[in-house]
Formats: sequence, structure tokens, C-alpha cells
Amino acid sequence: VSACRSCGAPILWAVTPGGRRIPLDADPDDAGNIALDTSSLKAVAVFVADADGTDTRPRYRSHFASCPQAEGWRRS
Ligand SMILES: [Zn+2]
Repeated sequence: VSACRSCGAPILWAVTPGGRRIPLDADPDDAGNIALDTSSLKAVAVFVADADGTDTRPRYRSHFASCPQAEGWRRS
């Protein structure tokens, strides 16, 4: 777990299947749409579309969506 450089919130870094690093809120959230596939060395963020509960992995939310300083993320 590390801390967001913008707001200091605890975040997890994951990578998308496309290889981009994305920050996730460290605390799982049932309303999130991202699950982590930790079967490989990297934590891969998998976007979960189903809402019927067949995927029982913990859900996370992108910190891009929840960061109060999200404007700062858009500079790249
Ligand atoms: Zn933040």
C-alpha cells in the first residue's frame, strides 16, 4: 500500500491488461468495478462488468474516480 501523492489516501497500484499503471483505493468497495487478478507477479486490474455476484473477488474503485485532487491526475 502506498499513498496518493495528491491527497494522501492509501492506494494500491495495479496494472491494466494493457500494461498501464492505475491507482486503486486501498479499501475494497462493493460498488467498485475492478477486481485484482493476483495470479501473476503483478496485480492486474480486471474491469468487472457483471452485477450478479458471480465474481466474488473483492472489488476496488479506481482512485482516479474518487481522488478529491483528481484534476492533478490529468496532467500527464
Ligand atoms: Zn488522491
